[in-house]
Amino acid sequence: MHVPFSYLDRQFAEVDNYLADIRELVLSGDFTLGKDVQAFETAFAELCGMPYAVGVGSGTDALGLSLKMLGVGPGDEVITTPMTFFATVGAIVMTGATPVFVDSESGFVIDPEKIEAAITPRTKALLPVHYTGNLANMPRIAEIAQKHGLKVVEDACQSIAGQIDGLPAGTWSDAAGYSLHPLKNLNVWGDAGVITTRSAELAETLRRYRNHGMINRDQIAIWGVNSRLDSLQAVVGRRLIGDTAWITEKRISHAQFYDQALASLAPQVQIPPRRAGVRHVFHLYLLRVERRDELLAFLNQRGIEAKVHYPIPLHLQPAAAALGYKAGDFPVCEADCKQIITLPAHQHLSQAELDYTVEQIQTFYAC
Ligand SMILES: *Cc1c(COP(=O)(O)O)cnc(C)c1O
Repeated sequence: MHVPFSYLDRQFAEVDNYLADIRELVLSGDFTLGKDVQAFETAFAELCGMPYAVGVGSGTDALGLSLKMLGVGPGDEVITTPMTFFATVGAIVMTGATPVFVDSESGFVIDPEKIEAAITPRTKALLPVHYTGNLANMPRIAEIAQKHGLKVVEDACQSIAGQIDGLPAGTWSDAAGYSLHPLKNLNVWGDAGVITTRSAELAETLRRYRNHGMINRDQIAIWGVNSRLDSLQAVVGRRLIGDTAWITEKRISHAQFYDQALASLAPQVQIPPRRAGVRHVFHLYLLRVERRDELLAFLNQRGIEAKVHYPIPLHLQPAAAALGYKAGDFPVCEADCKQIITLPAHQHLSQAELDYTVEQIQTFYAC
């Protein structure tokens, strides 16, 4: 049996409806911003339960532009986690600021109790990441930010429809950045990102900044960038956005199935703690396992596209050399990186594929 990690061929097997929408866009010539982008932004804001959503070129830009428009720049420090995708840290560096790392708590998100020790007079903002779709402890992070007068941007690229006590990302921060990359939970046919915020003023500033700083055709208020949400991607997103609830529920139910089916394999297989009140949306389904590299090879040989997200934490990347970190600085994160494995858990998997994956893991640890 083949258990694929990517679901794109299954998801877009019936492509005609999308092509009909795109045909309409092409005939309208409404290629930059325009009504489809506006309609998608409105739908996205509603999906996230936030008053404002601003479409941009990518998830990376959603983070970088938010930080910049909140005043983060050269000489500032931004606190984040080394347990993330490259782009979180790339977005900080894009602003000219310096990334400062803080170790994880169990569950692969930043440990709020270690943040204060990393705050310096230069700290300007916090950038927690809802890694794998598990929300970081935002109520606690917001308290710390308020005490120290810091801005907060949430990296929600993996956590669309995630919640804490029924409240969405963006509730405890200045802004939340989302990615619509083809392998994210709500995905389009290329690069796209969205920022949600409760601030009308920040939304307005971001709308200008993403579009050259334009006030109107002839005037710019600020020096901006070109990071518009592509209109074609907005058309695809509009058709798909209604599926988000179904996609999310499927992923959660697949994760619950794995959690139950694999619990008896402890301690060789450890299921990360599932925090009460958190709606974890399982962009990635991670386990901590013994003999990780052997298990990975075993599953791959048997057609199961398990992966590792990611083997090398950000502070140990070649790109981070100038920041001066070393192995041992973040023991929780570093231990996780050696033990984690990602199982396919996407919405298009069949029960037979899930069963087969569990059986193969059981077989591996039985011998
Ligand atoms: C995907 C991702 C990003 C970047 O999004 P892009 O749309 O690929 O630029 C940033 N942070 C995290 C945690 C991500 O998973």
